[in-house]
Amino acid sequence: CLTFDDGPSKTTPEVLAALDAAGVHGTFFVVATGYNEKYLPLLTQAAAAGHQIALHSASHEYSDIYRSSAAYWKDIALLKQRIAPYVDAESIRYLRFPGGSTNTVSRRYGGKGLMPQLKTEVEQRGWQWVDWNVCAEDAVGGHPSADTIYRNVVRETGEQPHCVVLMHDSATTRTTAEALPDIIQWYRDQGFTFCRVEQVLPAP
Ligand code: ZN
Repeated sequence: CLTFDDGPSKTTPEVLAALDAAGVHGTFFVVATGYNEKYLPLLTQAAAAGHQIALHSASHEYSDIYRSSAAYWKDIALLKQRIAPYVDAESIRYLRFPGGSTNTVSRRYGGKGLMPQLKTEVEQRGWQWVDWNVCAEDAVGGHPSADTIYRNVVRETGEQPHCVVLMHDSATTRTTAEALPDIIQWYRDQGFTFCRVEQVLPAP
């Protein structure tokens, strides 16, 4: 599963074009920070092309969303409200926690018990949270080249037979879109096929 966090962004058209050219469907964990507001209509296009749209965060501000369970769910409600003009937000059952489900930064704001509590609450809603086991390391400082991102994915995949690949769709990760054709070809050469997250990870 190729997954893209933090979009839509000005890079999204390039990501969509690369996926379309390869005939691959991905999963987008989206944000609605206000800064990316003008790109939100791209979600309609992404969904129509067969990609999965899933929730990430409205603000993506750790100090805000991880203050408490109430603050987290308020942010998710705001995200759904902001993307509702473009996709069927009420039908979305998948989300990715900023920093992942095992992040420790949330402890600073909401305490040690917050992530276990949020995971339970997500499941109680009948939703599914989604982590990753391959990180493209494409959002680190220094703006990695397409070749570096490709090599990160190959190295992190290692011998794993099932991969959820974390990549980013943001203003600063254009090289991710550039790396996609080679990444997709490499996985195909290894015998992998591509799925949206919802195809391999059923909602509870
Ligand atoms: Zn993120």
